[in-house]
Amino acid sequence: MSVSVPATRVAAYAAPAPKAPLERTTVPRRPVGEHDVLIDIKYAGICHSDIHQVRDGWREGIYPMVPGHEIAGVVAEVGPGVTRFAVGDRVGVGVFVDSCRACAYCLRGDEHFCTEGSTGTYNALDRNGEPTYGGYSTRIVVDENYTVRIPDGLALDTAAPLLCAGITLYSPLRHWQAGPGKKVAVVGLGGLGHMGVKIAAALGAEVTVLSRSLSKREDALKLGAAHYYATDDETTFEKLAGTFDLILSTVSAPLGLDAYLALLKVDGALVNVGAPEEPVALNLFSVIDGRKTLAGSMIGGIAETQEMLDFCAAHGLGSEIELIRAEQVNEAYERVLASDVRYRFVIDTATI
Ligand code: NAP
Ligand code: ZN
Ligand code: ZN
Repeated sequence: MSVSVPATRVAAYAAPAPKAPLERTTVPRRPVGEHDVLIDIKYAGICHSDIHQVRDGWREGIYPMVPGHEIAGVVAEVGPGVTRFAVGDRVGVGVFVDSCRACAYCLRGDEHFCTEGSTGTYNALDRNGEPTYGGYSTRIVVDENYTVRIPDGLALDTAAPLLCAGITLYSPLRHWQAGPGKKVAVVGLGGLGHMGVKIAAALGAEVTVLSRSLSKREDALKLGAAHYYATDDETTFEKLAGTFDLILSTVSAPLGLDAYLALLKVDGALVNVGAPEEPVALNLFSVIDGRKTLAGSMIGGIAETQEMLDFCAAHGLGSEIELIRAEQVNEAYERVLASDVRYRFVIDTATI
């Protein structure tokens, strides 16, 4: 137990306005409350969602915006009521930092679907109406109930992307029961997609990567894929018609859904985790014929995020990362937009 300190300002990288480059600044962190942990952030992953939000692609953003919801660090201080963590513990924070804690979804561990809306780690307002600021920063204060433990077997830098990319793929893979005997395709080999390949393969599924070109083929096979096809080759869609039990699309841009639905077996499911800024068209016969499911999935709850971290530790799974200095963040955004990342940028927050 330690004594809480007054609200303090910490170094961060923020976008001052929509579409503006990120720059170094400071942002406030609340005093460490009864159930809070103060975390020294060590690493923060760059998710494509950070770019959608900084560039105001989804909805009205709150500026200045400090992105970052793939946070790995070490507990520096705990509030007097904290029971789950101690100073020195290795911890992670993902996409949300609070929820109502009383609705049916919160009570069953689906806090991310809270009926009152979970509180985003950044680009949101907390219970007191104060803006939240994310992980491109040196320190953060988070309620212990929205903090997870990073197992000893995982390095903090390669674990950081698991807090969003990892759980976003783990949750639907479990929900749709990927495992031995199941043919699973992952569309788009980026930050989410490469974790999807690793996790699906570790679950025992037969994994196929569908990427636009053949350029990532060798990588995909090393990550655990059994098969790889380029979607810019139209014969791919002929060859693979009716093949998969489950397809996970991680594509950040609108996708021609009908072509991918045709790759499912009868009763198969196409699950979208990619979150493009524009709506997509659909011919309903693509799901009618074959009783197919078109679904979406969003991150996962706190307990499931812990389960995912424990699973990744047990299977030796971390993210493939390019570690960058904070001042490289704008350049990194351009490279993500060009799909020129192998496979997640992670900011070394000691450089902020
Ligand atoms: P990323 O690293 O940029 O990967 C996206 C991949 O999509 C790219 O590597 C590329 O794969 C493919 N792609 C990009 N543009 C494309 C286009 N115009 N046509 C076809 N394929 C294209 O991004 P990420 O961080 O993995 O995030 C992916 C998406 O998921 C984003 O929209 C993000 O906001 C969203 N997301 C959703 C959740 C959730 O809870 N549902 C959580 C996190 C992120 P190839 O080069 O291999 O073709
Ligand atoms: Zn994310
Ligand atoms: Zn709730």
